[in-house]
This record gives sequence, structure tokens and C-alpha cells, in this order.
Amino acid sequence: MAHVNANYQKLPGSYLFSEIARRTAAYAEAHPEAKLIKMGIGDVTRPLVPAVVEAMHAAVDDLSRAETFYGYGPEQGYDFLREAIQQADFAARGIQIAADEIFISDGAKSDCGNIGDILSADNKIAVCDPVYPVYVDTNAMAGRAGDYDEQAQGWTNIYYMPTTAENGFCPALPTEPVDVIYLCSPNNPTGTTLNFQQLQAWVDYANEHDAIIMFDAAYERFIAEDNVPHSIYEVPGATTCAIEFRSFSKTAGFTGARCGYTVVPKALVREGQSLHAMWNRRQTTKFNGASYVIQRGAAAVYSEEGARQIEETLDYYRANAKVIKEGLEAAGFTVYGAVSSPYVWCKTPVGMGSWEFFDLLLEQANIITTPGAGFGPSGEGYVRLTAFGDADATKEAMQRIQTLMATR
Ligand code: PLP
Repeated sequence: MAHVNANYQKLPGSYLFSEIARRTAAYAEAHPEAKLIKMGIGDVTRPLVPAVVEAMHAAVDDLSRAETFYGYGPEQGYDFLREAIQQADFAARGIQIAADEIFISDGAKSDCGNIGDILSADNKIAVCDPVYPVYVDTNAMAGRAGDYDEQAQGWTNIYYMPTTAENGFCPALPTEPVDVIYLCSPNNPTGTTLNFQQLQAWVDYANEHDAIIMFDAAYERFIAEDNVPHSIYEVPGATTCAIEFRSFSKTAGFTGARCGYTVVPKALVREGQSLHAMWNRRQTTKFNGASYVIQRGAAAVYSEEGARQIEETLDYYRANAKVIKEGLEAAGFTVYGAVSSPYVWCKTPVGMGSWEFFDLLLEQANIITTPGAGFGPSGEGYVRLTAFGDADATKEAMQRIQTLMATR
């Protein structure tokens, strides 16, 4: 008899986005004339830039001719991309990361989940609350989370670190031993960042306790503050305790094209084992490499033309983030994030819960947001708005919210 992974039965349903979809559909059915503006989902809307598209077309042509055909590529990614990343994302910032410490993948989500393959089941996992759910659910699937406690809305064996306005969105160092710590800066969902001093404290903690930091920098390109590291490896000591995840999704509109990378430094060793060697073994066994066409497209992001073009797209989103932040503040809200992030984390009106405020915005302003409570108990009292939408619709949304609040 085959035995299934019983941990899957313990996973709570993906309540958040299905519940948003249910409430939105019910409202739209009852009010077919409503012009809904979506500010909830974290997907991009601007197309791939011309330099990327041209590089992908040329790569397809390569595959169409016997002389330039590529079959299976290196599981770790092509040198042309690893070297471009090493130069632009690390060497240019004075960071000592070698090209062969960079593993190309089909995106950060897969890597954030798959990294658990090289960890034993008995690690104590620490995550921020609110949190990008992938860190938690993938550890739950691997049996590292214990049981789901409906009452507490959390897993019995996960160490949750509240990150709220009260602690400046910086998690406090743990008061009990933890082995693996997930940090995300700029953060999804709060849009806030961790500065050099804050990350240094975590790097020191991890080195002292032989812990590992899983550092998710998927939103690195949005950093606009000087004192915020673009990579954890800008923080002294990080190469002996941290793995970093990056993505082309929000950097260059690759949510559909799919490409990301993970840095596993050779200096990262636990229990006498090189994590770099283990991840290499994992990838060469279970992954046959990201598509050649997509890697050519990703490399074009680092060309002079490509770099300029993606900045234009990023500026479009950055301008939206500013419109949302200023629009919400003008309507009287307290707002976090937005400065170094496409996410705006808005405090709900006094006495109003996340879902209640979600309903108010849906019904009275026809705007779809994401209730903060869906990202964890400490997200209660906030909603997340995203800057990935159309510029005109974003402006209109802010006008609607201001009108709504002025009449309440
Ligand atoms: N990490 C964070 C924090 C994210 O918000 C996302 C996507 O929304 C990802 C990773 C996934 O990125 P990718 O599209 O590269 O899989």
C-alpha cells in the first residue's frame, strides 16, 4: 500500500485569495455596473521590455538551427547569465560572490520551497508574521511545522516573529533557539525594509547559533533607501550563514517568463557539510536547468539598453506606489512601505478589522485590496495595496478612497 505525505492533510485551505475572489465575484454579480479596480494581487502588468524580447527572439532562432542549437544546459544555469549577475548584482556593489555560487532557476518561489530538501526535518523554523505563505507551507509539507492550530492561526512548531508598526517592522531576535530564519526585505506583504544594523544583528545571531538565514530579496530593485542592503552579503559575516533568493519577476516582468536565482556561498557549512555542494547535488538531480530562451532574456536585463528599459518600467510602478502612499495619507490613513517597495501596507480605520475594511473598500469604492490578516495574525488591522496596476486606475482609486473617507 502506498502511503501519502500526511503533512498535506494538515495544510489549511488557501483561504486568502479564494475568499477575496468569492467576495469580489459576489459583489460584481450584484453590481454589474461597478468598475472594479484591482489592487490586491502581486502580479505585474507591464510587458517585457524590447531588449529582453529581442534577446528571447534571437534565442529561439538559435534553437531553430542545427549549428546554434542548444539542448540540455547546465543545471546551475549558463555562464553568460551567472557572470552577468555576478558582475552587476554583486561585484559592482563590492560584494564578493563568485559566479559559481549563483544557481539560476525558474523563479524564487520554487527555490524558496525546494531549499528545504537540504534541511533535516527537525530544524526549528522562524518566520515573520505577517509572512509570504510559501516559507511556512513548504516547511509544513516537509513535516517541520507541527500541526496547524486554527485558534492561533499558526503552526505549533513554527516560531512566529511579529513584525508590526510597534516594532518598526523589524523582528526581535528569538527568545528560544531557532535553526532556520526566513527574512524578506523589501518585505512582502508589509513593503518595509531591514537596514544594515538590523540585518547585522541577525547575521551575528545566525553565526553565533549555527543557524541559517533564508534571505528573500525578490523586491531588491525597489530599494530607494541608502541604509538598506541590496543583498544580505553586503552585511559582514553573511557568507557563512545566509542563502539569498532573487527573482526577475518584479525586476523585469518575468512573472510569466519565469527566471530567478539563488546564491549559496561556498563558505556556508553546517555539521561539516557544504550547503553549496548539497544544493548543487539537489539541483543536478532534480532540475534540468531553466530554459535557454528565458536565460538569454534574463541576461538582456544586464545589457545597457535592457537595464535602462527595465528602469523605465520600474519607475512606472514606483510612481504608482508614491500615488498610493500620498493618496492614502491625504485620506487620513497611516501607511507603511511604498518607499522601497511596490507594496503599501495601510492601517485600517480605528476599530475596523482587515476583512471589514476590505469589504468597505470593495463595496463603497469598488477597489480590491488584500486583507493583512490573510498573511498571519499580526497582519490584522492592515490591508495591502499593490503598485503593479495601471497608472490612471491607481490615481482614480485614490480619488475614490479620498471621496469615500471625506463623506464618512
Ligand atoms: N518571494 C516573494 C517575497 C514574493 O512575493 C514572490 C512573488 O510574489 C516570490 C518570492 C516568487 O517569485 P517568483 O515569481 O520568482 O517565483
